[in-house]
Amino acid sequence: MPTQKRPLCKKLSPFVIVLIVLAFLSLPVFIILKNSLQVLHYAFFFYLIYAIGLYAFYRNKLYKTDLLRLKREEIQEKMNSHEREILRLTDLNGSLEKKTRNYQRLEKFTEDLNNETFLDSICDIVVSETFGSFGAKGNVLLYLLNEKTHKLELRAIKKEIDTLKIQEKMGDLFDQWALRHNKPLLVEDAMSDFRFNPDRIKMELSRPVGSLICVPLVTETSSLGILRIDSAIFGAYQSDDLRFLNVIADIAKLSIENAVYFRHMQELSITDGLTGIFLRRYALERLKEEFIRAQRAADPLSFLMLDIDHFKRFNDSFGHMGGDIVLKKVAKFLKDFFDLPGSIVARYGGEEFCVILPHARKEEAMRLAESYRLMLSEHEMTLRKERVSVTVSIGVAAFPEDAPHYEDLVRCSDDALFKAKRSGRNKVCSI
Ligand code: GH3
Ligand code: MG
Ligand code: MG
Repeated sequence: MPTQKRPLCKKLSPFVIVLIVLAFLSLPVFIILKNSLQVLHYAFFFYLIYAIGLYAFYRNKLYKTDLLRLKREEIQEKMNSHEREILRLTDLNGSLEKKTRNYQRLEKFTEDLNNETFLDSICDIVVSETFGSFGAKGNVLLYLLNEKTHKLELRAIKKEIDTLKIQEKMGDLFDQWALRHNKPLLVEDAMSDFRFNPDRIKMELSRPVGSLICVPLVTETSSLGILRIDSAIFGAYQSDDLRFLNVIADIAKLSIENAVYFRHMQELSITDGLTGIFLRRYALERLKEEFIRAQRAADPLSFLMLDIDHFKRFNDSFGHMGGDIVLKKVAKFLKDFFDLPGSIVARYGGEEFCVILPHARKEEAMRLAESYRLMLSEHEMTLRKERVSVTVSIGVAAFPEDAPHYEDLVRCSDDALFKAKRSGRNKVCSI
């Protein structure tokens, strides 16, 4: 409150009041005196004191009004500052409530992740949770590093606008930066961030990005990928958001790491160690599934059984190791040749292989088997500096013509293979 100097009149007023009282008390005196000059003198004195008194009274009133106004202003100022404080506290309360909500969500998020073992499902949960936590605004992208190519691959995405096309399937310059520096990246204004060249951003990005956060998913032993949120709006994210995304990433990376291990274990349990193709158990499981699907959809399905001709001779001539090389090469050719949508190639056992061809009619399966047989027989391999050629006999069986049940399909293809062997080997037969 501004300080106000007390006016002189205010200081004088009690004195003046005393004078006025004295003047009034003296009135009877000069009335008794009846001397006109004295009366005039006293009257003048009386009115002068009276005028001073009035003036002092008036100034005092003005002073009080002023004081009141200042008091009012002071109260108003206090009210304003209280209102500002209330607003600040309301804001704080809002952000605390938001934080509490977010941390409650994180509990559920952790629980959801714990209940999931498959990598794709985990990636979906992570992007959905991030999207929800940021108020369903912006685009959330999850990239994982391909173990073979060591490049980022887009694994899951949640977009603010469904029709938005995201072409950066291997990440953009921001993701690469976060990956290279192995630290979180907050860009509040993509066009004026000193770390990035705006011309390059305009040239390389297929969509508008105003602000973003990239958080690397790093475990103690390896880098798994990048979790990212971006928006076309500038300044959409602050350091608080960066911290929160970091928390999500910390939870997510553990589940992602576990899922990767789980997938490795699963792959190992269904993959043949020597040839790298599937094992018989897995092939038969898949055949059963495909058979049921084909029955329901009245869709054709073919099954091939292959056996290397006179394989024992390779073992005898080139040793077990030489035989293994032949097995590996035949399997690789088989995998590459039958690299068709939905097809499954497996080692059935020993020097026998099988191929499941969903949607393939018997004639098409026969044609494919014949092409493979021919291609293999014409290809010469080198074993201990010797040129050798390998041939196979193939039995083909198909649904619906050969078998009402999937086990019959295996039996029929086996019979067809026996037929091929009996008829001189290096043949494709059906029953
Ligand atoms: P056929 O034309 O009648 O099929 O004659 P084959 O010699 O190919 O068939 P046979 O069943 O008589 O011999 C298969 C051999 O395959 C016997 C076995 O020692 C060998 N074998 C099985 N598994 C492996 C393997 O993993 N590595 C090697 N090197 N040989 C194997
Ligand atoms: Mg055999
Ligand atoms: Mg054989």
